[in-house]
Amino acid sequence: MTEVNRQMVLAERPTGNVDSNTVRLVEGVAPDPTDGEALVRVKYLSIDPTIRTWMNDVPGYLPPIGIGEVIRSGGIGEVVASSSSRYRPGDLVFGMLGWQDYAIVDGGAATAQAIPAGVEPPVALNIFGVTGMTAYFGLLDVGKMARGDVVVVSGAAGATGSMVAQIAKLKGASMVVGIAGGPDKCRWLVEVLGCDAAIDYRNDDVGTRLRSECPKGIDLYFDNVGGDILNTCLGKLAIHGKVVLCGAISVYNDRSLRAGPANYINLVGKRGRMEGFIILDYLDRFVEAQAAILGWLFEGKLVHAEHIVDGLEHAPDALNLLFTGGNTGKVVVAV
Ligand code: NDP
Repeated sequence: MTEVNRQMVLAERPTGNVDSNTVRLVEGVAPDPTDGEALVRVKYLSIDPTIRTWMNDVPGYLPPIGIGEVIRSGGIGEVVASSSSRYRPGDLVFGMLGWQDYAIVDGGAATAQAIPAGVEPPVALNIFGVTGMTAYFGLLDVGKMARGDVVVVSGAAGATGSMVAQIAKLKGASMVVGIAGGPDKCRWLVEVLGCDAAIDYRNDDVGTRLRSECPKGIDLYFDNVGGDILNTCLGKLAIHGKVVLCGAISVYNDRSLRAGPANYINLVGKRGRMEGFIILDYLDRFVEAQAAILGWLFEGKLVHAEHIVDGLEHAPDALNLLFTGGNTGKVVVAV
């Protein structure tokens, strides 16, 4: 291979949002695949808040990205050369491809998977990728949402939250309340996604609004943001209320850990439950969620939105959109 391979590598650990010092663009030559491997031309990258957490020098569910290493990221690409019986040139695959033009994949199921036929790659990264899987299993398996539940979801106009809100309605929630920043997003939640109510956390008092929208309390709160919104929702749980800890984007840029939510004590009085999860634990069940989501999609019951940013070099800006709220739906970089 003599193709140029542009790679975005971690130059410096950020202290807040990523900036021009965080990531450096380097150029090399695309590698040749060896036995059992394939070379993939990266087409689209899934931009996820967790990428920001991997930039910190803090051990997590995956190791931190090392200085000088390619930024870890899910993506979809096309096989361009193969020394593996699993991949043929022309196949579209998704896996951990990284912020680069070319990536090597091997035969591991977690490394690269085929994408559903007839589904555009950005849509696949959204509803059939980590995002859709997180919403589905977080709500139904971790949260064990039951028909009739009053469900509240934060980050509701984002990728995961918008799926959670819709799956909750499809599964018979009696009330779905989305929390998001700004009147446009809140209008989208109600008018397009079908939420029963939306709370603009930038302009509304979240506690007051929750009291009037959910007078009997919250049966299930799906938390994408942590911080004050988590604390407020904890204080509004119904008896046996559940909190699904999916993520805490409001604190990913903080250098030091904040004190925990004071309203946790309400879990005692309400006999509540709060549980976190990492979607990678569900890899072997992805097909189950993908089948359900495909069904809803073909029945026209699911709205999906992709926010596409052009150019590998703009991947850091794309990541920042998640923290400024500049996105509605799934952020994808078209490499
Ligand atoms: P989103 O598309 O939801 O983008 C993030 C959104 O968060 C923004 O659009 C913004 O919307 C909102 N936001 C940013 N800062 C704040 C803040 N300070 N307070 C409140 N809201 C804020 O991203 P994803 O769907 O990819 O991820 C959502 C969450 O799910 C993240 O916490 C992520 O880490 C988590 N996640 C967890 C997984 C797991 O395995 N547990 C897997 C995948 C994602 P707004 O304009 O409304 O502020």
